[in-house]
Amino acid sequence: MNAIEQMDWLAGHWRRLSAHVETGRLPQALLIAGREGLGKGLLAEAFAKRLLCRHPGDYACGQCPSCHLFEAHTHPDFLRVEPEEPGKIIPVDAIRGLIANLALKPQYSGHRVVVITPAHQMNAASANGLLKTLEEPDEHTLLLLLTDSPENLPATILSRCQRLDIAIPDRVQALSWLQGKNQGDAEVLLTLAGGAPLKALQLAEAGIIEKRGEFFAAWYDLLRQVEEPAKVAEAWSKFPGETLTEWMVSWTMDLIRLRSAPHRSLIDNADLLESLQAAARKLNLRSLFAYLDQLQAARRMLSGQVNRQLVLEELLIRWLRLARSPT
Ligand SMILES: [Zn+2]
Repeated sequence: MNAIEQMDWLAGHWRRLSAHVETGRLPQALLIAGREGLGKGLLAEAFAKRLLCRHPGDYACGQCPSCHLFEAHTHPDFLRVEPEEPGKIIPVDAIRGLIANLALKPQYSGHRVVVITPAHQMNAASANGLLKTLEEPDEHTLLLLLTDSPENLPATILSRCQRLDIAIPDRVQALSWLQGKNQGDAEVLLTLAGGAPLKALQLAEAGIIEKRGEFFAAWYDLLRQVEEPAKVAEAWSKFPGETLTEWMVSWTMDLIRLRSAPHRSLIDNADLLESLQAAARKLNLRSLFAYLDQLQAARRMLSGQVNRQLVLEELLIRWLRLARSPT
């Protein structure tokens, strides 16, 4: 089984894409939308490879000269347009370069495939530049626009693309795929990744369960008053604030769940159950809800220009105070 076949949640999308080829009704541009970690990129590349392949079956053959060029990242009819660095915009020069390339005929196969990713990182000038290409269909060229926030693409672009939305897979399906990768606690990883299997795998490879365990231990120690907020905040400020607040939100929500239904076992952080139960006994519901609000506010602040260490220290001091308020 190849990588796409293993991802059950992509199977239906693959069949639909293949049907386009078989009926000779390939769209000019396809927008592949879905959150990070669902396999948009893999799907787009596998489809590009299949289109360019000399002897395709259901998938690319993997044996022909075209497949070899594709695997070596040197296929002349496969073009990628992306920001120079993650998070940066796709400048209009990149789109101009693409248009110049598209003026030439495909060199190798009958087809040519362009992947633009993340498409919402195009600025207005880039999007405008691309619009001209979308308005002048070229039967040899397929444009694949990938994005996790289609709402940030101009309506003019959206209206010229056929759209393929990849949804978060069924949990059982995602877990079975993730368990096959043997990368630690699949349940916890998938929850941390918001249900996105490839994201979960990426988190596992970055040793995120261990890191989260360390952060949780420090958070828990604060409640037991054996750790200093300022010291913890200093250590935490070196880590992405968004992830940290997301974790604290998730822990706090579990505490609320445990506090309102103590015997409930359905919590997000099942591997931390014992400590969370012990913490829940020390806290009251009303202050947990108030703390949740503070966390949400801090999350918004941390995405802007603030002194991260101070914001975190404030959060940790408030957390420490929760233990002192009467239950
Ligand atoms: Zn091939």
